[in-house]
Amino acid sequence: MDQWTHMQCDDNETQSLVKLAKKIKDKRYCRECMKMLPLDQIKPNSFFCHKHYKMVSSWNRAEADGVRPKCIADMHTFGQTTIQLSTKQIRDLMTPNQIQNYKKWCIVPVDPTHPLTVDNAVVVSSIHRMFLISHWRLGHSLIQYQHALTLKK
Ligand SMILES: [Zn+2]
Repeated sequence: MDQWTHMQCDDNETQSLVKLAKKIKDKRYCRECMKMLPLDQIKPNSFFCHKHYKMVSSWNRAEADGVRPKCIADMHTFGQTTIQLSTKQIRDLMTPNQIQNYKKWCIVPVDPTHPLTVDNAVVVSSIHRMFLISHWRLGHSLIQYQHALTLKK
């Protein structure tokens, strides 16, 4: 009788371990959803669900293709040597609509005498950016630049 009870207990434990392992095996974590999701909702070989994989990969393309190269070009124009903005910070600065139309938008410093950081960054249209750069090239004047920044383009 004792032995029987013991066996039952072991068996239950094994069963719950098997259940737990199965539960983990069938799920993966999405870094954007920030939760475990069923395996079929996860893009294979990635850290994202299908929806977020699409979003993140299109964003990565947008950043590499458009947003960051412009920031780097401006960094040289402003005589800076560094940009202190991560991919995620750039993404957080922009609205989903701006990300989708990333060619029409850029991120410029509020104060170009300091490196681009999350506290020294503003999203402007590409036309506004050209206007700002041309103002800056006229005399490297912070006052003129920041005045040009307040003018909606
Ligand atoms: Zn997700």
